[in-house]
Amino acid sequence: RGGVAPMGITIEKLRERVRGPVISQQDEGFEQARSVHNAMIDRRPHAIVQCVNAGDAVAAVDYARENGLDLAVRGGGHSVPGFGTCDDGVVIDLKPMRGVRVAPGDRTARADGGATWGDLNAATYAFGLATTGGIISTTGIGGLTLGGGIGYLSRGHGLSCDNLISADVVTASGELVVADERQHEDLFWALRGGGGNFGVVTSFEYELAPVRDIYGGLIFFDLDQVANVLRSYREIIADAPEELCAFPAFQIAPPLPFIPENRHGDTLIAIVTCWAGPLDAGPAALQPLRDIAPIVAEHVGPMPYPLLNTMFDVLVPPGLQHYWKANFVVKLTDEMIDAHVEYGPKVPVVNSTVHIYPIDGACHRVAPDATAFAYRDANFATVIAGMWPDPGANKANIAWVRDYYSAIAPLSEEGGYVNFMAGDDQDRIRANYKGNYDRLVQVKRAYDPDNLFHLNQNIRP
Ligand code: FAD
Repeated sequence: RGGVAPMGITIEKLRERVRGPVISQQDEGFEQARSVHNAMIDRRPHAIVQCVNAGDAVAAVDYARENGLDLAVRGGGHSVPGFGTCDDGVVIDLKPMRGVRVAPGDRTARADGGATWGDLNAATYAFGLATTGGIISTTGIGGLTLGGGIGYLSRGHGLSCDNLISADVVTASGELVVADERQHEDLFWALRGGGGNFGVVTSFEYELAPVRDIYGGLIFFDLDQVANVLRSYREIIADAPEELCAFPAFQIAPPLPFIPENRHGDTLIAIVTCWAGPLDAGPAALQPLRDIAPIVAEHVGPMPYPLLNTMFDVLVPPGLQHYWKANFVVKLTDEMIDAHVEYGPKVPVVNSTVHIYPIDGACHRVAPDATAFAYRDANFATVIAGMWPDPGANKANIAWVRDYYSAIAPLSEEGGYVNFMAGDDQDRIRANYKGNYDRLVQVKRAYDPDNLFHLNQNIRP
């Protein structure tokens, strides 16, 4: 694939066929349109099709296929390896498609393929409903759901993909199909964890749960307590009700009013919390975590669920350099905690972090082969999220992520969460899907035999 000289449909014909803007390298707005969240990614597509409806996506798929061009699909644009763009190929940018329709009586919502978690959470909050999504409001529902989807509601309500009821999909042949439990069931199975390998999802339908205001926020402890915090956390979360999400985070203290000024810039160990049960039970649910050690600073209380999902947005603006690594673990062993104690405190900048997300509870009630997401026995998903502003500091920041990962990898499962992985992790793809890999290949052969959708953690047909 590749090349810039269209042989089939011309770009003029493409422009006639689509309703949204088609931006090519000569057009005003190209620089802005080509940028993705990770500023390390510097690619120049041949055409960016800003789709306003599913028909636009069909036209763009046909154009790329018939001209033998690379094809990238972009939802929220947060992919760390930059899968939402390419050099000299076509980008299907779903950004204009962000509508959300909630059916409160059915407890479902239908969201367009380019919506963000901020869009979805705001729309469902009005009805006291929510579904599992990411912890940053600007991340796309598209990539996050298709890779699995871990967030504040996972323990109680499963992964984002576990709450998917149906999807409208433009396939590699340019056909629009509905995938659910009754139609294109194999495709529906693969979409729930298999990433962007199978087509362009122009609409996602989710099941919602009654969640309106939550009790939660951040609790910071001193680094000299880090081993105690991680060991105590391990015991507390194992027995905690599923309404409680809590995850440890290594974090340099930002200059926020609730943190004592003399601690700004210090590296601390935080526990991030979200109690999604009855509000008045929130303080008691969090108390065992607060009792672990003397608290340096905390910002905890009742708040709208969507507000919690914007709390960290300020630390991850567009324009940072990103390099991430990830693992799954069944047990947070003492050896694993020792590795975190050694590398976590070396977190180099305020934007970078390490999160250890619990993925037990409802995530474990889905059979490993019921969806493409295979790690249903893992209790934790760790992400070492390197994010920093200065491209001149890439070497040191990437080295921190790699050294950290090298220390925890031998103590981890072989696979990791596809959405937290770097571009150099393609050799772990089979391991990510364990026993589901062969079935994913079969579905890939059925829906995309020529691997048109290959800019992703790729399942090769
Ligand atoms: P994009 O770059 O647009 O797409 C990512 C991949 O998905 C690409 O391969 C793309 O082709 C495909 N894709 C996207 N939309 C569609 C669509 N509609 N149809 C078909 N394919 C599509 N993950 C979590 O699970 N939980 C978190 O809390 C979380 N927080 C994050 C915070 C930040 C700041 C970042 C950068 C990432 C976070 N992630 C999280 C990881 C996130 O799940 C992945 O980066 C995900 O790929 C982002 O999806 P996107 O649509 O924004 O990205």
